[in-house]
Amino acid sequence: MKNRRCTLVLVMMVLSISLLMDHAHARENNAKKSSGAPNAGKTRAPYVPVLRIPLRVHLSMSKRPVKEWMVILEEINRIWWSQAGICFEIEAVMHDTILKDGMDIWFSPPADEGVVLNGYFEGAHDIWVRDTPKLRSAPNPARHRAARTAAHEFGHGLGLNHRQDSDDNLMRSQTLGWRLNAKEVGTVRKHAASIALPDRKPSRCKAPILTP
Ligand SMILES: [Zn+2]
Repeated sequence: MKNRRCTLVLVMMVLSISLLMDHAHARENNAKKSSGAPNAGKTRAPYVPVLRIPLRVHLSMSKRPVKEWMVILEEINRIWWSQAGICFEIEAVMHDTILKDGMDIWFSPPADEGVVLNGYFEGAHDIWVRDTPKLRSAPNPARHRAARTAAHEFGHGLGLNHRQDSDDNLMRSQTLGWRLNAKEVGTVRKHAASIALPDRKPSRCKAPILTP
């Protein structure tokens, strides 16, 4: 009888420990899921090979300090790399000479502050985003408005049209959404493969660099 009671106590202890561990895992998973920041904490791209696209960022007309741009440019890469295995090898410059390959983008205030346009894509080397776009919130918002709008314009550059069914969509107009669906990922990876750097071994892009 005594032995049986001991076994019962032991079984109950094992059960409660495994229940506690399950709770701990659930808490951790929920914390990951509820993070609003684009893909915080991801260490591996969801698609390989990672497709790296050269990008020149023209800041000569921007009114924002250069140091603000570095975190914005890193967020653009997080949005694309963590969802589609695409990133940009970014060189920020203070001149207007364009790249031969990849893409070029200019950041600046609009000529007239009354302009409602946040950005446009007119071709791989003719992309513009205003310094501080005007965007509505989203359930899972991007951190920086300029990062979201630039990532949206690159979506057009990689073959995507607008998709207005949720404020969380990257291709929704004028929100802070940054999410792509599986169909969009298929489209952009096909397009990106045709313009990406031939070396497909690196698993992510380097940090943005600034050259005068
Ligand atoms: Zn658009």
